[in-house]
Amino acid sequence: MSRFFSDKYRDLEAYTPGEQPRERKYIKLNTNESPYAPGPWVAEAVAREAGQLRLYSDPESAALRRILAERLGLKPENLIMTNGSDEALNFAFMAFCDAANPALFPDITYGFYPVFARVNRVPFQVIPLRADWTVNPADYQWARGTIFLANPNAPTGLSLPLAGIERILRDHPGNVVVVDEAYVDFGGDSAVSLLGQFENLLVIRTFSKSRSLAGLRLGFAAGSEALIQDLKTMQYATNPYNVDRLAQAAGAACLERDEYNQENVRRIRETRTWTRSALTALGFETTDSRANFLFVKHPAFPGSALRDRLREAGILIRWFDQDRIRDWSRISIGTREQMETLVETVRGLLEEKK
Ligand code: PMP
Repeated sequence: MSRFFSDKYRDLEAYTPGEQPRERKYIKLNTNESPYAPGPWVAEAVAREAGQLRLYSDPESAALRRILAERLGLKPENLIMTNGSDEALNFAFMAFCDAANPALFPDITYGFYPVFARVNRVPFQVIPLRADWTVNPADYQWARGTIFLANPNAPTGLSLPLAGIERILRDHPGNVVVVDEAYVDFGGDSAVSLLGQFENLLVIRTFSKSRSLAGLRLGFAAGSEALIQDLKTMQYATNPYNVDRLAQAAGAACLERDEYNQENVRRIRETRTWTRSALTALGFETTDSRANFLFVKHPAFPGSALRDRLREAGILIRWFDQDRIRDWSRISIGTREQMETLVETVRGLLEEKK
């Protein structure tokens, strides 16, 4: 820290992203990326657009929003495109939280939420998940604030049925309820279907997971025109050209042939089922994950031990140094071949222990 760093951020603990190693080739199961490359038409669209890079991008992402709106059965006015869904989340913390409307979210969820709250200097309150790590909508009933729910949740992978989301929306007509659907394509029910009924609902999604574009940084929020206008105010107050030309072109090309992404999602779900039963057979406890990762625990490898041993063997997974989940690990779903290597490696580690 320099001596010039503002006092207001002296104690800020920033988010720690999963490692992106360079020194060695690992099987990367630590950041929930897709194991499948985007279709070649995406790179072709990027190459075509590269000729226009002299010019600023469209701050409205109009062409891309038109295509996306059509896919979702919404109007373009119901959408804002962002630089990854992290930016949409940050805009929501900026726009909808303050001293009278603290951010409310579960104790175990996406680790960026408390960071967004702190950097925007808004209070937050954590509402513990049940013992089985499900969200109890009744636990939110008497709390007042802007609610952030990842659904499916991370890192548990568990999904809250839409009836639960509806109850929370109904219980909080005076506040925005943000549903972060980063993983919804892998098996959750999308709250987009509720947008017509609830003006306090904001759904946030990403192109990083099911659409294989984590490196492009493209996400979006869907909500009433008024909510979207509020987020646009945040966009135009921080970075009007938040989505660059290459991302807009690539996003549009990716959506034009979305069947390709749907097929990849199908394969990932199949591999998730296979991996879950293979790990269960090895003595792992697992959750019923609806996401592109598994959340697992083995009695022989508590704490960070599994992560460390797998790392030595060339496989990266994610471990969180946090109460209640310290014995657990999150493992992204890779290709079937990568997951077979994972299972065989774990089998070897367990035999070594005996
Ligand atoms: N929400 C959740 C629950 C996530 O796990 C992630 C990925 N780390 C994000 C949002 C942000 O993803 P991106 O910024 O790549 O869209």
